[in-house]
Amino acid sequence: MKPLIEARALTKAYGFTFALRKLDLTVLRGEWVALLGANGSGKSTLLRLLTGLSRPTAGTLTIGGWEIPREAEAMRAQLGVVSHKPLLYETLTARENLRFFARMYHLPKDSAEERITALLSRVGLSRRGNDLVRTYSRGMQQRLSIARALLHNPDILLLDEPHTGLDRDGAALLDTILQEAHADKRTILMATHELERAAALATRIVILSRGTLVYDAPAAGFDGERLAAQYAAVSNELKAASNE
Ligand code: ADP
Ligand code: MG
Repeated sequence: MKPLIEARALTKAYGFTFALRKLDLTVLRGEWVALLGANGSGKSTLLRLLTGLSRPTAGTLTIGGWEIPREAEAMRAQLGVVSHKPLLYETLTARENLRFFARMYHLPKDSAEERITALLSRVGLSRRGNDLVRTYSRGMQQRLSIARALLHNPDILLLDEPHTGLDRDGAALLDTILQEAHADKRTILMATHELERAAALATRIVILSRGTLVYDAPAAGFDGERLAAQYAAVSNELKAASNE
């Protein structure tokens, strides 16, 4: 099967800091990749490069054969993104935000309204849909970000620590939503520090360290505890190697 996402020697430098160093990664359609790694290991950088909003310093990146960022526009509608920044307009209501993005994705107007109502209900914001986003709590903004990411039924979900800020119900709801997306054959890349969730949900575990891929294995057979042990083992090996 041809990879859906292909990074070759992908490199991103900020001044003298290498956020990614010659990263090679291929992802097949339908995979659910949990991206693990310490703060600063390059997870968000990788996700940002995939959205086409940031330009690689060197190496190549393609999604569905399209070269990113040069041809990113062609496949933007296939991406649903939940990032650290909520990408929402604070001076609009939740519903107006979703309407704005529906227009951006050229969703037909009638079906868009229905879809927006359904999504607001799905993420538990029905009653607050007409309130300004400025008045939303962090978790409510996160719920709305999730609705926005799903709005256009994208093939690929790029999620940067998507459980952050959600309450227990919100986090469980997100798990269910993502499980449905996965059952629908959508492809998911999820940066997370939640090893329990990564082990339970993802199909593949990728660990980054200092901008390179240091571990890549199927998630089958992992539970939270075994994954934590694996994560610690990889981290300790790296520490020992860097002290040699
Ligand atoms: P992670 O998401 O795994 O915590 P990031 O991808 O955010 O890591 O960061 C990787 C490295 O790149 C860090 O050293 C970080 O300081 C650096 N970095 C990320 N974004 C920028 C930026 N916009 N300007 C300068 N340095 C950055
Ligand atoms: Mg990050």
